[in-house]
Amino acid sequence: MLSNTNSAPNNRQTQKIEVLPPVVAERIAAGEVIERPASVVKELVENSLDAQATEITVILEDGGKKLIEIIDNGWGMSAPDLERCVLRHATSKLRTLDDLDRIQSLGFRGEALASVAAVADLSILSRPQGEKQAHELRLPDTQAQAVTFGHFHGANHGTRIRAQGLFSQIPARLKFLKAARSEVTQVREWMERLAVTRPAVGFRIVSDDRTVLDLRPSSTSDPEAARVRQILSDGGDFPVVTREHTSLDGSVRARAHWIHGFSSPQTRKILQVVNGRVLRDRLIQQAVLSAFRQALLPGQFPAMALYLELDPSQVDVNVHPTKTEVRFLNSSQVFREVQSLVEAMIAEQGSPVRVPETSKGWFVPPVVSPAVPLWSTPPTQPAAEQISLLRAADSSPEISSSPSHPLSEARYVGIVFNTYIAYEAPGEELVLIDQHAAHERVRYETLRMRAGDLNQSQELLIPEAVKFPVERRLDVENRLVWLEDLGFACEIFGEDTLLFRSIPAVWGTSALRTRLRNLLDRALNQELTDSTPLMDEVLFEKLASEACRSSVFGGDRLLEPEARSLVDKLFQCDHPWNCPHGRPTVVRIPAVKFEEWFLRRV
Ligand code: ADP
Ligand code: MG
Repeated sequence: MLSNTNSAPNNRQTQKIEVLPPVVAERIAAGEVIERPASVVKELVENSLDAQATEITVILEDGGKKLIEIIDNGWGMSAPDLERCVLRHATSKLRTLDDLDRIQSLGFRGEALASVAAVADLSILSRPQGEKQAHELRLPDTQAQAVTFGHFHGANHGTRIRAQGLFSQIPARLKFLKAARSEVTQVREWMERLAVTRPAVGFRIVSDDRTVLDLRPSSTSDPEAARVRQILSDGGDFPVVTREHTSLDGSVRARAHWIHGFSSPQTRKILQVVNGRVLRDRLIQQAVLSAFRQALLPGQFPAMALYLELDPSQVDVNVHPTKTEVRFLNSSQVFREVQSLVEAMIAEQGSPVRVPETSKGWFVPPVVSPAVPLWSTPPTQPAAEQISLLRAADSSPEISSSPSHPLSEARYVGIVFNTYIAYEAPGEELVLIDQHAAHERVRYETLRMRAGDLNQSQELLIPEAVKFPVERRLDVENRLVWLEDLGFACEIFGEDTLLFRSIPAVWGTSALRTRLRNLLDRALNQELTDSTPLMDEVLFEKLASEACRSSVFGGDRLLEPEARSLVDKLFQCDHPWNCPHGRPTVVRIPAVKFEEWFLRRV
């Protein structure tokens, strides 16, 4: 059995559950996976998805404490498989260690059903595809019984699993369960996350006889975008922006669906799907957030689903008991691909700006299609020489000679409240530019350019060695990508030493060893989930506050040529849409809004 490396565990034809031999079982990251109803639902729904179900219903009673029932229309199990599926390390999805390298199924450890059986009363009814008879296994019986009426008759095949009285025999665990309502919320969140990975599958939750979730496959041209929107936009009317990108070597495919104009106070609305598996990977989250750092205010996070496809051998899924974390073979490449995909989206679309409406709360400025020249992609290289200080004292107001930017066709209207520069743009829009925010952006990019390219490295003649506690080695390893991203080239040397071979050019070399030690210290004390990489942040703060100090302020009076030249310079920036701290520089109000306000349209 072990030598049969050609087995295709995910293929229905060869599905047969076997108990893994100890050599294989021992190498699988095991762990107690059942904590609460949501974890039962997650495991069982994953099994339904692995069985290619297209319709999955979850029924809960008392938040799942009394009953969790999952019904699917997947390929089902034969009677002998039913009897084996509840054994520990019994699985049809994996046979040998080699299979671990090409796992496509969500499960592979053969532990979930055994774990559920250990903490609840379990019964499983199933009828396999192509067989006449349904069978039921009711633990503690070890034999499946033929069932001649009820579920799965006629043409239906599939599986129904019931777990009753979760933790009723284990009071110590039972007391950690929350009120039914919040257990249901957690179940729903897990279902939604799984639903994002399979837009063609219908998902339903019925809790105490009420339907609390009903996700139907969409018949639109992009069902995946439709599903993401359904789950992430909280019912709001936001457009979904989609962008795809394949790495140059073809090894990483990334696709993002961004709910444009919507932001959340939590990172929970950043969903990650890697090879069909929903994850909470810190590295990926970090890559998304670092791209958004200058596009959203602190404490605001985007709503976005990110899909990555890599060769399965490039991803180790066997690192975490609930499989919500993975390890990438080439993690810095993954980081960079995600970051540049998201950065490109932000540069192209601008970041969300909300304009208050008089009566109905908020509206989002419309996303203008790329066909309209007004919001064409800004030039990628800011022209350094053209960005000069604008303050009255040193300004020599001459109109920029190459003003081919989004507002070059627009009519300059004037300045409102000595603060907002107003343009009437083709395409029926009033465009307002905050003079302070705009100048801050321009100054920031100028200063940044003077500081040199942050990624430009300086090689050290003699590498600097910094020691760390041996037991933190794994943590140091996990932070190498960060350091690399900040412009440090370093590698682990021996058991407890980090060797720096080059540093960012802006760092300089005075007291280098001490500063590198501090850097590593800080890196180790910083949670990987923090939204901003550390060193870049220090430099960024310095530049941003310097930019703020030396900028024109709201209320400072600008002459028309100064205002126009500021706008020209703004659109030569890499990130024209926000000031360095994420406040919007530009707000667009479509003419139809005026018509609504003045009741010209009903
Ligand atoms: P794993 O998913 O890691 O293989 P589980 O304990 O979750 O382990 O399930 C054990 C086996 O039971 C699976 O490998 C699969 O063959 C079978 N199984 C479980 N649930 C279903 C289902 N809903 N439909 C068909 N087969 C199932
Ligand atoms: Mg499973």
